[in-house]
Amino acid sequence: MNKSIILLSGGLDSLVCFGLAKDDYNIELALTFDYGQKSAIREIEASAKITEYYGTAHKVIKLDWLKDISDNALTSADKNLPQGLDNPEESVKSVWIPNRNGLFLNIAAAHAEAGNYSHIIIGANKEEASTFPDNSQNFIDAVNNEFRYSTMNYPQVIAPLINLDKNGIVGLALKHNIPLDLIYSCYDDGELNCGKCESCTRLKNALIFNGASEYVDTLFNE
Ligand SMILES: [Zn+2]
Repeated sequence: MNKSIILLSGGLDSLVCFGLAKDDYNIELALTFDYGQKSAIREIEASAKITEYYGTAHKVIKLDWLKDISDNALTSADKNLPQGLDNPEESVKSVWIPNRNGLFLNIAAAHAEAGNYSHIIIGANKEEASTFPDNSQNFIDAVNNEFRYSTMNYPQVIAPLINLDKNGIVGLALKHNIPLDLIYSCYDDGELNCGKCESCTRLKNALIFNGASEYVDTLFNE
């Protein structure tokens, strides 16, 4: 029987991964990372709601040092978060965290080896791979190759959304009744998703594309 770990930020991609993979991959542990990002508390709250909904153990891992070694808009109070989708190359530079997905997957692999988990699930997807190389299939393949050398049990990384953009991801969520009302997908800290940052803009556009305006009304702060 498979036994899996999921990387859970509490946002759209990781929730939809959870809903799609829970039956086939027997997800028993969700890992949420607090690296000092502005949205950390909201992400932890959303992830706790999601793991409660699916009945899965939840562990928050603190990586305080990560914000100390990098200067970016996700963690630095004096840097503005990218708004909208007009300038993706500038945007990716401003929110890039050094080796983030590589680090997260290696921490998950250590848990997978210690607890004998067979799979690690991540919400990497085609839309983000267009600007973030650590969301690409090549990256997933490279990490799987790495784990053949760095672990004794070779946990396999699975990315169920790797061929999907945000419109497709929201479409699947609606088709499978995945509870989108539980997510926090914003780069900023707030009672609700801000509705203006790059991450919120991608989510909002995909909800509108799929005719899910009820979530536009309830998830965003406007
Ligand atoms: Zn936002």
